[in-house]
Amino acid sequence: MNFNENQDHTIPKTHPRYQSLKYRYKIIEGMKNLVVAEAGLIAHGRGECFDYIIGEKTTEIAKKAIYAAVASILLADRPVISVNGNVAALVPRELVLLSNIINIPLEINLFYQKEGRVKAIKNELQKAGAKEIYGIDPKKMTELYGLDSNRKKVELIADADLVMVPLEDGDRTEALKKLNKKVIAVDLNPLSRTSLWADITIVDNIVRTIPEMIKVAKEIGKLDNFQLREIVNKFDNKINIQNSLNSIVEYIKRQKKKHLKQ
Ligand code: ATP
Ligand code: MG
Repeated sequence: MNFNENQDHTIPKTHPRYQSLKYRYKIIEGMKNLVVAEAGLIAHGRGECFDYIIGEKTTEIAKKAIYAAVASILLADRPVISVNGNVAALVPRELVLLSNIINIPLEINLFYQKEGRVKAIKNELQKAGAKEIYGIDPKKMTELYGLDSNRKKVELIADADLVMVPLEDGDRTEALKKLNKKVIAVDLNPLSRTSLWADITIVDNIVRTIPEMIKVAKEIGKLDNFQLREIVNKFDNKINIQNSLNSIVEYIKRQKKKHLKQ
């Protein structure tokens, strides 16, 4: 894929940071199209920083969390994926595919409301093939208890038993937990409030996580509830976060040895 910055600068595929730059420009394009909020650029940069010290690939630890996440979604009665601008800009097609494969609806939920943003995100998801998108019609929305920001306005999330929150803010994760909902977070920072509050924290980049979830869904989609429950019960999020932190430390040590020969 080619992508341009200001139409005149094509990044060659051989560029060592091609992938990272590709997604950076998707975020910039998203901002120009209203899909991404200005603050979304900063959130993306915060994520990139952690991705660097994770090694920019899905770790075995994240894969375990992904199995637990997919199994939990398959077991849930009323699961929902909460979609924000960054996610819609980065992986719209994959998101719609996942939604179809494991039968989990998509609900737009934004921290930064701006005239036309919900519509821009809706268009992005529809272009990617989404048939039904929630969180659009104010008449169908209710308010989530315990939250002051814009994100309190919800549709299916109000009655969901499980909410997957990619790139979420800590306040809402806390509010969702206090309402006894099961929360799956995708967050590159293992120490964010979201990561610490969630039941299942996938410490990985959303651009890798969603395709990996699709793979896992195809693999375990036919298991019975007993087998799915076994996957979920084996998973411990505290250990998962500890392991994620250890793997960052190990990665940095390996890089230090490799480049500084100490
Ligand atoms: P919290 O509110 O949970 O304490 P925060 O305030 O540090 O987190 P926010 O700006 O609220 O961060 O949310 C953005 C989060 O999303 C950050 O933790 C960042 O690491 C993460 N993030 C950004 N881009 C990605 C991505 N592509 N994949 C996964 N996580 C990402
Ligand atoms: Mg925050």
